Amino acid sequence: MFEKVFVEKEIRHHPRTLHILSKLRKEPFLIDQIEDYFGRVKKPYLQKRDNLNLFIGSKKGRTVKQAPDAYGLGGEPHYYFIHAYNCIYECEYCYLQGYFNSPDMVFFINHEDIAKEMKQLIDNNAEKTIWFHAGEFSDSLALSHFTGEIPFYFDFFKDHPEAKLEFRTKSANTREIEKMAPLPNVITTFSLSPQERAEKTDRGCPPTSTRIRAMEKLYKLGHPIGLHLDPIIHSENLFSEYAQLLDELTEKIPADYFEYVSIGVVRFTKEVYRQVQLNYPESDLLVGEFIKPEDGKVRYPGSLRKHILGKIQKMCLEKGFKNEAVYQCMEN
Ligand code: SF4
Repeated sequence: MFEKVFVEKEIRHHPRTLHILSKLRKEPFLIDQIEDYFGRVKKPYLQKRDNLNLFIGSKKGRTVKQAPDAYGLGGEPHYYFIHAYNCIYECEYCYLQGYFNSPDMVFFINHEDIAKEMKQLIDNNAEKTIWFHAGEFSDSLALSHFTGEIPFYFDFFKDHPEAKLEFRTKSANTREIEKMAPLPNVITTFSLSPQERAEKTDRGCPPTSTRIRAMEKLYKLGHPIGLHLDPIIHSENLFSEYAQLLDELTEKIPADYFEYVSIGVVRFTKEVYRQVQLNYPESDLLVGEFIKPEDGKVRYPGSLRKHILGKIQKMCLEKGFKNEAVYQCMEN
């Protein structure tokens, strides 16, 4: 999977580094710090297809950051934490295009520092339920069997039932979660699109039916799960495809089992939109009517967004998802 592996000297013999290297079976190059190499020279995004390197190190500076408004269910503080950069998948709409100077992957192994920052936030917000989201800059489960941090976070959140953790994924790689005893405050969430759509744009991701099977496994084991119907991409058969997706899903898992369902339509920053045009000029993602309002987001016109979001939300509610669990993402 990785052409070359670079490891910071300081953590070369850390048990987590040894665990990752044992899975990769590759002799690493030792470096002083990731910042000296990662992204120092611009590496085209699509080189991830045949020349992907991995960096393993320790994240300096802040590892937990406040999430943007409307990131999750309203009324509660949301934070994301940074334990990896970049992703093995290649969704055409991915916001990581052009975000870093390089598509190479980075694993940060200093999870204790992340937990320390989380603890401080929990202590400072004693009267609130704080959410922590993994996977802002990477898929949080796709390579979790390599990175091995899942038990650490289950232990931490077992001791902090007042806070919540979300692992968000487009993978079907639930094997590490399956080994854990379920916790009500650790929620695994899946981003799903109808199969026809996923085949066109979710390059490298498992088929939708495989992801639904993974969700079903977690449901049967009693793990809380959530759903992201995001990004929704406008097409002629949009609503019939989503109706089929919701049918398939609720045949396997009762709709009222889901902790929450977020619904969002595709949107880009100007820079990501430019990258999509460059990387996927033939993509039907670009066919839609987009506007560029003052906030810099490239997205469908308001009336179309409202129509899509309203209709999909109604379909979810008719399927039996809990009213208070269904919300529209990034619209407010
Ligand atoms: S799974 Fe997420 S992070 Fe990975 S390529 Fe797709 S959108 Fe990007």
